[in-house]
Amino acid sequence: PLPAGPLSVQFNGLTFSYEADGEPTLRHLDLSLKPGQTLGLLGRTGSGKSTLARLLLRFYDPQEGSIELSGVDIRDCKLHELRSGVAMVTQNIEIMEGTVRDNLSLFDEEINDAEILSVLKELGLEEWFASLPDGLDTVLASGGGSLSAGEAQLLAFARVFLSDPGLVILDEASSRLDPLTENRIEAAISRLLEERTCIMIAHRLSTVQRADQILILENGQIVENGPRAEL
Ligand code: ATP
Ligand code: MG
Repeated sequence: PLPAGPLSVQFNGLTFSYEADGEPTLRHLDLSLKPGQTLGLLGRTGSGKSTLARLLLRFYDPQEGSIELSGVDIRDCKLHELRSGVAMVTQNIEIMEGTVRDNLSLFDEEINDAEILSVLKELGLEEWFASLPDGLDTVLASGGGSLSAGEAQLLAFARVFLSDPGLVILDEASSRLDPLTENRIEAAISRLLEERTCIMIAHRLSTVQRADQILILENGQIVENGPRAEL
């Protein structure tokens, strides 16, 4: 039972390895984020950033330690509750074979067409929407092959706005987008940050300038943790 609104995040001595007797990817990790704060999470390729994100969604269970969201141990949450309270945007949005409506509402019947259209408009997807042969009933192919990278990314944001989670994880928003799309995504991120707790995963410090707290992962541990002015 997660509360509504921005969630706090707490990792308590979290240790995780993919293989039972392997080197831990994350070791004795502590982390604390207040409701509404933005965390910038940096670190080299393979340092465990995406792993940390997937642990928050309980794709795996840690060997040691725990994760709490607003004081609730995520092991005590039903998976569907956890995954409606926490949303993740990655480079690869998963489009299933189905209508635009179902792909955006993910079958949540409380989301009506007017809301979907309004979110598409806010994200600058009006023109894309106007080009669809059957509006919200247009069937997308599995994998989203007919979408450009920018459209796919903006649709991922549309999903997040519609499900309105208390915690959003942005795992390296796609690079190599055209400037207009880039601006739309920037605007979407700014709006996302307003009322939610956010973890922004990135490779470069410049990407996470707006974070309240910045953390660098190295060898499974935090090597820097402080306001960005100190870095
Ligand atoms: P990048 O910046 O490239 O996205 P990352 O910081 O997100 O990297 P992770 O994807 O979390 O890194 O990977 C951390 C480590 O765990 C790497 O050594 C990776 O090879 C390993 N790893 C990731 N996923 C799995 C998996 N499913 N099974 C086994 N090992 C994995
Ligand atoms: Mg990653």
